[in-house]
Amino acid sequence: MQRLLDTLEETHLLDKAGLVRLLEWDSPALIHAADRVRKRYVGEEVHLRGLIEFSNYCRNSCFYCGLRAPNNRIKRFRMDIREIMEYARRAVGWGLKTIVLQSGEDGSYPIDDLCRVVSDIKDMDVAVTLSIGERTKEEYACLKRAGANRYLLRIETSNPRLYERFHPGMSFQNRVRCLYYLKELGYEVGTGCLIGLPGQTVEMLAEDLLFFKRLDIDMLGMGPFIPCPLTPLENEKGGQVPLVLKMMALARLLMPDINMPATTALATMDKNGYQKGLKAGANVIMPNMGRPDYRRLYALYPGKAGSMEDGLARLKSAREIIMKAGRKVGRGCGNRKRVLKKA
Ligand code: SF4
Repeated sequence: MQRLLDTLEETHLLDKAGLVRLLEWDSPALIHAADRVRKRYVGEEVHLRGLIEFSNYCRNSCFYCGLRAPNNRIKRFRMDIREIMEYARRAVGWGLKTIVLQSGEDGSYPIDDLCRVVSDIKDMDVAVTLSIGERTKEEYACLKRAGANRYLLRIETSNPRLYERFHPGMSFQNRVRCLYYLKELGYEVGTGCLIGLPGQTVEMLAEDLLFFKRLDIDMLGMGPFIPCPLTPLENEKGGQVPLVLKMMALARLLMPDINMPATTALATMDKNGYQKGLKAGANVIMPNMGRPDYRRLYALYPGKAGSMEDGLARLKSAREIIMKAGRKVGRGCGNRKRVLKKA
């Protein structure tokens, strides 16, 4: 097994069978190898991305998500443009170099308004990441022209059957098509998966990693599946932290120069989740900079880590976590610096 790991560390290539074997291997050697590769390719900086969740309305019905449209027991909110800008300005004033605008798939914002927000934030000389779901190619293009740099669209699972089981009314092909549109338009593209979904196997997880590598993604967010009340999966078993860490470590070994966050979902499952994620290859943390009362309502899953704190307190604790881990807070926008040539 050690030889398999050494080859992966050296070549950043491995087939599905090899990945499955390493996913089934319980050894700290995997995490240590990922940490070495992280250090060699992306260094000691941890980039902070200021997250603003601006609407919890969503037209979709993903089985695992508390914001799904049929859930009429949660309070919905929608920030207007002025309010989004107020929180973005505050986050930039506190030193953040990337603003991430995230929402459910809420069709009520005219595209021109979204473009205006993007270009007004860009005027503050920071990077803008969008995470607002599936849109038309024309809309992605408008947002890009307005200045958006990056786009996050998680595939959640690269297995079409599993995808369609948990995403009624959605199409796997369209999701993949959107990822290709975003790449064509020149965005830095992020995707990711849930780990521990009912019916998901290690083979499927190995395929997820190969899917990300094939797509040559720039950013990757992976977290445990956390069963959420008032959803069809509320009584299922959640994902396991050690498996998430192994997936992160393998991702870093396969794609050494990507940006990869230690996710809030990981920190929700394990009080040391951010620290463990940083050791397993992560180089990004995304503190929530939105309105505290709205953050509680953005309940993709229960018990979100730190959801009672205000933006400045979250930023301070993210900085402390980075320093305690012996790493440095990133100074620039933290774009992907491609080291490996495109395959
Ligand atoms: S996961 Fe995203 S797209 Fe799916 S229901 Fe939740 S907010 Fe909507």
